Amino acid sequence: MKDQRVILIVSAAEENMAAVKKIWEDEPEYKLLQASSQVKAKAALAMNNDVDLIFLDSTGMEEDGIAFLKSTKKKGEYAHIPIIVGAQSGSNEWIEKALAEGAEDFVLRPYNMGLIRKRVSSAINRNLHDRDPLTNLYTATVFYNQTKRLLLKNPDITYTMLYFNVKGFTLVNDFYGGEVGDSILKELAEMLREDVGKRGTYGRIIADNFVCCIPSVNGDEEVFLYHHIEDRLKTLRQKYHFNLECGIYRIEDRRMPVAKMCDRAKFALMDIKGSTGKRYAYYNTKTAETYRDEQRMIADMEWSLKEGQFFVMLQPIYDAVTERPVGAEALVRWKHPELGVVRPDIFIPLFEKNGFIRQLDWYVWEEVCKLLARLLGKGSTICPISVNVSRIDLYHPGVESVLECLMEKYHLPKSLLKLEITETAYTEKPQEIIRLVSKLRERGFELLMDDFGSGYSSLNMLKEMPIDTLKIDMKFMEELSTSQRAGNILISIVRMAKLLNMSTVAEGVETREQLEFLRNVGCDRIQGYYFSKPLTLDEYEALMEEEGRRENSGVIHKKGVLVIDDVRMLRKSMMGALGDSYCYFEAANGKEALQVLQEHAGAISIVITDIMMPEMDGFELIEAMKKNSVFSHIPIIVITASEERESEIKALKLGAMDVITKPYDPVIVSQRVKNVMQLSETEWLQMEMSLMDRERREAMLSNRHQEK
Ligand code: C2E
Ligand code: CA
Ligand code: CA
Repeated sequence: MKDQRVILIVSAAEENMAAVKKIWEDEPEYKLLQASSQVKAKAALAMNNDVDLIFLDSTGMEEDGIAFLKSTKKKGEYAHIPIIVGAQSGSNEWIEKALAEGAEDFVLRPYNMGLIRKRVSSAINRNLHDRDPLTNLYTATVFYNQTKRLLLKNPDITYTMLYFNVKGFTLVNDFYGGEVGDSILKELAEMLREDVGKRGTYGRIIADNFVCCIPSVNGDEEVFLYHHIEDRLKTLRQKYHFNLECGIYRIEDRRMPVAKMCDRAKFALMDIKGSTGKRYAYYNTKTAETYRDEQRMIADMEWSLKEGQFFVMLQPIYDAVTERPVGAEALVRWKHPELGVVRPDIFIPLFEKNGFIRQLDWYVWEEVCKLLARLLGKGSTICPISVNVSRIDLYHPGVESVLECLMEKYHLPKSLLKLEITETAYTEKPQEIIRLVSKLRERGFELLMDDFGSGYSSLNMLKEMPIDTLKIDMKFMEELSTSQRAGNILISIVRMAKLLNMSTVAEGVETREQLEFLRNVGCDRIQGYYFSKPLTLDEYEALMEEEGRRENSGVIHKKGVLVIDDVRMLRKSMMGALGDSYCYFEAANGKEALQVLQEHAGAISIVITDIMMPEMDGFELIEAMKKNSVFSHIPIIVITASEERESEIKALKLGAMDVITKPYDPVIVSQRVKNVMQLSETEWLQMEMSLMDRERREAMLSNRHQEK
């Protein structure tokens, strides 16, 4: 069945209107709409979204006519409708104007009916049959028109819009040449022609973007269509390394302009994940809202920075042993007038993409310097503050000078500003980042590796990295209560950091149990809600002042030695022999020793034990220690009497690292303890590094596997 053609006749002169209408009066395939003014014509367009052509008679509305042309041709929705103008012969100037504003054609008064009829029908046909010369598919405007008609004709059928994109098309063109690119597009067009056929509409929107609109009866036609086409393209896809992506929009509001429906389908493309995920996605309002908010943030960011909508909060960092504040981290906040307080997780990634992060970070650094200078001026207690340095900041050639200038401007020692760089920043081009970070360290800034454990940086590389402190990722805290493994990894990280001369900060510490565990395993500092949420600058200043009123306890960290013997005197003489460069823990038997280890494992670097003891002897203690992952790495020295050769051998077999025979010489004992400690540290470090690297590699592989 042939569709009805809809013509809107606009004329202020009644007799002209009547004459033009007469042309199609008895022809059912034409439907006529009429409007006697610009305003009415616009209303008619708004109410009838299937107008195929507008005939505009200029009589009495010369100026209005031009204005109408202008607004109609400008507005995306109606721009595709051809307009033919009727003008008085001799009014060349007006005709030229009308053509310049987008009129398709003109006829002169007095009207020749046959001529109007011919011009109108050819304009309609031209428009309906506008095809893309390469693929012979309809162009965007025709596709919109046809789809509009399709939807109107079948009000009871649900339709779905699909937007196809050839991922990697530019590369195909660059690599294999335009001809190959063209052949892919032609192939795709052919498939749409075959697969969509008469049941729907299809067209080429632009370049490698195709659209189609098909009925959904079962609800899975779109997926079927996509897979079918993708499958048939397989040979080409593999040969030229491209992929077909598809965004899908189930049409709900049919009054929406078709172009907008296409936009929604196109929008859904944004939800298609990486190279391993699925290649089609449905439009959903949430993505659209997120996108809208993101665009909003990008539009507002510079103005917001000037207006002072960004501000800094400080989260204090506490010493694990003294439980007093020893530092803080600066965290940025955005108080957006309409979006409310926006979390940095949301805007930082956006700003890293568009580069604005640099301006923002510089602002944060300066705010921190101002505060430090103020505290220093007031003579209150002062702790170093760490700021976040994004990967993007590092790429700025003068970043070290920027920081140095700030320190000079505010007369601050560099030790007061620490720099946090997240582990994942090292993932891409690690050598390059190491080089950039080293420059900062050479200038005297202390560096922290943030979120350690969230990425997969090789631990062997850690040795080469210019880092002073590891900040242990929060995820370990979350897993601590449920996973023994998380605890073990934590222990290894802290120990390894110590051996590499790095200190450790645990992040996201929320409970007393977590704090105690961390203290036991030797973690140095604690950040998290257990001690404090991020504070406003005023609150932080108050905290520092209060801190100033308290006395400092000044802990010195010595290596711990656990001495086990049932004879108190013998324990004392061992401690006397080793001198006061260690801190000591004591136990009278194996059982007590295990208790001490439970509580202070992190602080104990070596165990020296007697063999013969009540309750639990030395052998049993060694066995128990080797079974417990928290202390299995702590080296053990056994003390024996000279006649106990068999015991010595047994202890060494169980895993003791050395033997001291009574009576001993203090100098020799000291040296032996030192040697054992050193040996065990090196051995442990090497073993642990290769073990953890392997584990991480495996984790990474299994993650990749799951993504697939
Ligand atoms: P981050 O550097 O790892 O910062 C720690 C985040 O953990 C902060 O979130 C902090 O409020 C939160 N947090 C602290 N203690 C706890 C706790 O006990 N439990 C839980 N669940 N969370 C805790 P925030 O402020 O939302 O910052 C998120 C991220 O945004 C930061 O992670 C950092 O990567 C980035 N960021 C924040 N400020 C800046 C900045 O000024 N510049 C740059 N480049 N990045 C920033
Ligand atoms: Ca941080
Ligand atoms: Ca962190």
